[in-house]
Amino acid sequence: MARRKKVYEGKAKILYEGPEPGTFVQYFKDDATAFNAQKKDIIDGKGVLNNRLSEFFMTGLAQIGVPTHFLKRLNMREQLIRQVEIIPLEVIVRNYAAGTMSERLGLEEGTQLPRPIVEFCLKDDNLGDPLVSEEHIIAFGWAAQQDLDDMIALALRVNDFLSGCMMAVGIRLVDFKIEIGRVWEGDFQRLIVADEISPDSCRLWDIETGEKLDKDVFRRDLGDLADAYTEVARRLGVLPSNVTHATKPTLIN
Ligand code: 5GP
Repeated sequence: MARRKKVYEGKAKILYEGPEPGTFVQYFKDDATAFNAQKKDIIDGKGVLNNRLSEFFMTGLAQIGVPTHFLKRLNMREQLIRQVEIIPLEVIVRNYAAGTMSERLGLEEGTQLPRPIVEFCLKDDNLGDPLVSEEHIIAFGWAAQQDLDDMIALALRVNDFLSGCMMAVGIRLVDFKIEIGRVWEGDFQRLIVADEISPDSCRLWDIETGEKLDKDVFRRDLGDLADAYTEVARRLGVLPSNVTHATKPTLIN
């Protein structure tokens, strides 16, 4: 196969030039990082699971009329996506207090919030993705007021969809992060969901037991991350037939 041109490599994914203008191939790596890449590991099979899970969520969103960058899955680790101009903001939706919100506001993790709360963080690793206000966003020109309104509306629709998907399989969607991109159609532009939606960027707790089934398992050393993601994929019915997550060898007497 001809060598493809790498366009961008992030912590968990690589983007290659796509087969047609306006497309990229998004490759899911097995790398796990946390705390701005201060903690790193390779988790066998994570990329395969996230490729499938992101496909599942993005396809479902498209079916309810939420536009996304996803075009089609190409293989175990790659998907074809639309090229977008990424808005340099992480959009976080929270249903229950956890993580940085709990730290910032002194709220016990798991406290139900009065309503879903949308937060914005500036995508800047050097600054540790700081929380920013709508005033900052408009004043510094990271997005326009209309973009902000559209981003909040998109994020809340994603929240309703994901919360429902998860609740149906006994999982609480505590919070999640999405990224949003701008696409141009003639003279018109619109915002669509980009990047990925996977347990890397959500907090997912078992409703019965409170067990964590997301990247906090890695961040907080709570067990095997691939096992947690496999459980999410299994419950949603999107487990690939040959997940590469190796099982431990068993002793045969
Ligand atoms: P927190 O602000 O509490 O650390 O994160 C809130 C939610 O957004 C969590 O579900 C977390 O996984 C997600 N999130 C925040 N920042 C990032 C990030 O830089 N990368 C990923 N993958 N997820 C993030």
